[in-house]
Amino acid sequence: MPRFTAHGLHAATKLIVTAMGSNGPEVEEVADHLVRANLAGHDSHGVGMLPAYVRLLQAGLLVPNQTPETVLDAGALLVIDARRGYGQRMTGNAVRAAIAHARAHGACILAFRNSAHIGRIGTYGEMAARAGMAFIGYVNVSDHHDVQAPFGCGQPRLGTNPFCTAVPGPDGNPVLLDMATTTIAAGKARVAHNKGVAVPPGALIDAEGQPTTDPTPFIRDHIGALLSFGGHKGSGLAVMCEIMAGAVAGGQRAGEPEKGGILNSMLAVVIDLARLGDPAAIARAVGETTAHIRSARPAPGVSAILLPGEPERRAAAERMDQGITIDPQSWADITEAAGKLGLSAAALEAAASSNATGWVPGRLAE
Ligand code: NAD
Repeated sequence: MPRFTAHGLHAATKLIVTAMGSNGPEVEEVADHLVRANLAGHDSHGVGMLPAYVRLLQAGLLVPNQTPETVLDAGALLVIDARRGYGQRMTGNAVRAAIAHARAHGACILAFRNSAHIGRIGTYGEMAARAGMAFIGYVNVSDHHDVQAPFGCGQPRLGTNPFCTAVPGPDGNPVLLDMATTTIAAGKARVAHNKGVAVPPGALIDAEGQPTTDPTPFIRDHIGALLSFGGHKGSGLAVMCEIMAGAVAGGQRAGEPEKGGILNSMLAVVIDLARLGDPAAIARAVGETTAHIRSARPAPGVSAILLPGEPERRAAAERMDQGITIDPQSWADITEAAGKLGLSAAALEAAASSNATGWVPGRLAE
């Protein structure tokens, strides 16, 4: 299995994003985001997305260096249309603007529309939490065939519609819930297909609506659907992500004519905790809540009680130390996509295997 240091993978990612035509700040933001997603353990939203991004670029469905449209800037309301811009950069800029608005007005409602794939939503929750803000994000996925079967549906009708909430904690780390509203993210089915392994039971249905664990027909032929997590309750959250990001924020909706792209829209709420009370006292209260939860006897078979965001921080520490393994199929796909941009496999391999330094993960999120 190809294994690279995070720095090497970051250098290789920068080569590809540069070859896609992005300017320096966009290259930095996209590469930082993708490699940090791998570090967090979410290979589904890391550098393995690059082949899809190259496909979108070449189809005119992802626009590097896009100038987003500010549709409304009215106190605590901010409406931005990203016009298919490179998602990590468009969203990073939009959330930074929402943080500034929240600083000025106490809170900001950000209606963010029609960005090319925005990646790991937790990145934006982390950004807000580092600025002393709480963050809630309802996200939908459109311009793409439906993949999620809501409760009671035998066919897909929604995207994987992620949801995120982040609040700063007492140790400088946020409590960070960041999840697809499907049992597994679609990218995890792609990674399972690439590795030739089954997905967990309860995650997928086939063309007839019957349970299956084989990801291949779903990934290769778009047959079947991912199930919502948590029965009717998770399905309800997926429906509300669709409605908040689509009907309310004004982004493209599931069921509208699609071009085979990946668009994300998001209704986000950013709250300046310093305007609600003493941020240190709020962080202390968060710590008391998490300590209370941790004080429980672990369930049988559970070695440690973890809070949302902890598995990602543990994975990041381990992968920063031991490197990031990319499965051979995903690396072959990345190499092929780089080739379409005129980059040789040797150049990519050399960057990925280099002793590159100088990257400070997450610095852009400060
Ligand atoms: P996941 O199931 O691995 O984790 C979901 C949440 O549960 C996380 O907050 C995690 O910290 C927490 N968690 C995991 N294990 C835990 C444990 N043992 N104890 C306590 N908490 C635990 O995540 P996922 O649903 O597979 O989503 C993966 C990524 O995909 C996310 O970053 C999400 O933003 C991203 N995503 C993006 C899109 C998009 O269109 N841009 C769509 C779907 C998902």
